[in-house]
Amino acid sequence: MRYEDFYRQSIDEPERFWGEQARLIHWDTPPERILDQSRPPFRRWFAGGTTNLCYNAVDRHLAERGEQLALVAVSSETGITREISYRVLYREVNRFAAILQSLEVGRGDRVVIYMPNMAEAVYAMLACARIGAIHSVVFGGFASHNLALRIDDAAPKLLICADAGMRGGKVIPYKPLVDAALAEASQPPPHVLIVDRGLDPQMTRVAGRDLDYARLRAEHMNAEVPVAWLESNEPSYLLYTSGTTGKPKGIQRDVGGYAVAMALSIRTVFDIAPGQVMFSTSDVGWAVGHSYNVYGPLIGGATSLLYEGLPTRPDPGVWWRLCEQYGVRTMFSSPTGIRVLKKQDPGWLKKYDLSMLKWLFLAGEPLDEPTAEWITQGLGVPVIDNYWQTETGWPAITLMPGLDLKPVKFGSPGLPAPGYRMKVIDEATGREAKAGEKGVLVFEPPLPPGCLSTVWRDDERYVASYFSHFKELLYSSLDWAIRDADGYTTILGRTDDVINVAGHRLGTREIEESVASHPAVAEAAVVGVKDELKGQVPVVFATLKQDAGDGAAAVAQAMQLRVVEQLGGVAKPSRVYVVNALPKTRSGKLLRRSLQALAEQRDPGDLSTLDDPGALDEVRRALERGPDQGS
Ligand code: AMP
Repeated sequence: MRYEDFYRQSIDEPERFWGEQARLIHWDTPPERILDQSRPPFRRWFAGGTTNLCYNAVDRHLAERGEQLALVAVSSETGITREISYRVLYREVNRFAAILQSLEVGRGDRVVIYMPNMAEAVYAMLACARIGAIHSVVFGGFASHNLALRIDDAAPKLLICADAGMRGGKVIPYKPLVDAALAEASQPPPHVLIVDRGLDPQMTRVAGRDLDYARLRAEHMNAEVPVAWLESNEPSYLLYTSGTTGKPKGIQRDVGGYAVAMALSIRTVFDIAPGQVMFSTSDVGWAVGHSYNVYGPLIGGATSLLYEGLPTRPDPGVWWRLCEQYGVRTMFSSPTGIRVLKKQDPGWLKKYDLSMLKWLFLAGEPLDEPTAEWITQGLGVPVIDNYWQTETGWPAITLMPGLDLKPVKFGSPGLPAPGYRMKVIDEATGREAKAGEKGVLVFEPPLPPGCLSTVWRDDERYVASYFSHFKELLYSSLDWAIRDADGYTTILGRTDDVINVAGHRLGTREIEESVASHPAVAEAAVVGVKDELKGQVPVVFATLKQDAGDGAAAVAQAMQLRVVEQLGGVAKPSRVYVVNALPKTRSGKLLRRSLQALAEQRDPGDLSTLDDPGALDEVRRALERGPDQGS
């Protein structure tokens, strides 16, 4: 089918379109209504239908493809590869689900999962889905404070963690971070279930609270746990993401809509049919990891390759070797991942037989043209940039090679995916921008299936964060965009204080709060500054209290350390500048955009509201002098 017709039908006749797509999954009870829009901007897809993500991802495939590989978990860190068939996956998920039940975790209870890319993380997610518990996977690169914030918001009944992760051959113990997070949290769960790979011999356990997965698994080897049939709009999982405040938002996903979006996108966007192999390099803790390392490929009856390790270890050919070995058809990674490889010998791209590889998808941050060109030529396969957000759960702007591939235009992720009523509108007037005019990317309700249902336990925040920016009820992506005459959209960056470091979304406010918690710091401003490898990096400008005592360099170093300890290495400020004053408006608002512009050697823009011009000179001098910490 032509893309244009497919898309048009999804917009003009949404109930007919999605009613047909709903047949891609198994329903225990068919939906009573395809779309319930009685309370906009909320919407309920497939209302009254009952289904289950785990059933669709595992049980449904047993008859036809029980012996086929469902998951290949490769770790270049531990050197261990595990090949797991659908039948084995079924057994493991049932054991895990029985463990959850033995710990009195049931339907609607939250379970926080803090693990690297390992098979047990997938078992844990699917086991939660099986019994109707709501998982919330927290990225392993986040440190204790970030974990504590998420625990307090989700109020979980159980936390599941690994003893440790590994990065570049170095063991990173997780358990001490869990202990610190639980000490900080006001809603700590009664139990911690530890999947111990024996990586951290020093790991300590709290008697009565901490439980050993291997021991409990042995007690449930033959368990069969019935599937909980959930109404389509019950929550399936939470995934926290950064916004403009210091408090992350719990993006809430439903069951039926998400399952349908996964079943549709794995075929038409990612061009994966049952039995084919998909390799997504994302961490399970991110939105891509949920959708295309776990649910998408498994709901689609495919094989998912899950990789723990760096793209450059043991050598920069490791991804391509895996593509050859497992016959990967579609690979999914991030522009930063490719920029890392671009620094290596391009010969690695030609060393392996990639005749099975058809597509490389890249997402999470802007894909710069030189990188797109380098990898397209190096691999000899089309590179598909696709735009989405944690909120959308699947691509909102993309090309759809599984349906009908439109021409790739470097610099643009392409055209709207089915169901996305996309517009680019003028920020001030709310009118639709003409081709070539910059505006804000918005989606008219109803959001398609798969997108967030709300913010966890905070409907008001859902409306305030996403639907209150314009007179009309529109979902604001909070991204600037521009559309060309063919309808191809290019993303020009965020309209808010969110920054994108190596494809990881971080709130500058979260980093500012962490920096400002240092007793010597009076005030801090954090901005995202362009970086050749990571897209953006966080840069701190801070003023110190008068009696700060230690020298600027010592405090700057302590600020950097504090962020790593509280938030994690992903948020580490690349540079810290100690200044005597920060540029502010007369009403006291920090002029972050001017700071960012100066740090990127650009014009600082409109300064009519600037209170003290001296503060800007102060920043200029600091930039010339060089950072007090970092390079
Ligand atoms: P996250 O929620 O972490 O996936 O981050 C979403 C944000 O990443 C979006 O709002 C964009 O700012 C950015 N982003 C994601 N994909 C792309 C892309 N293909 N091109 C440009 N920016 C992107």
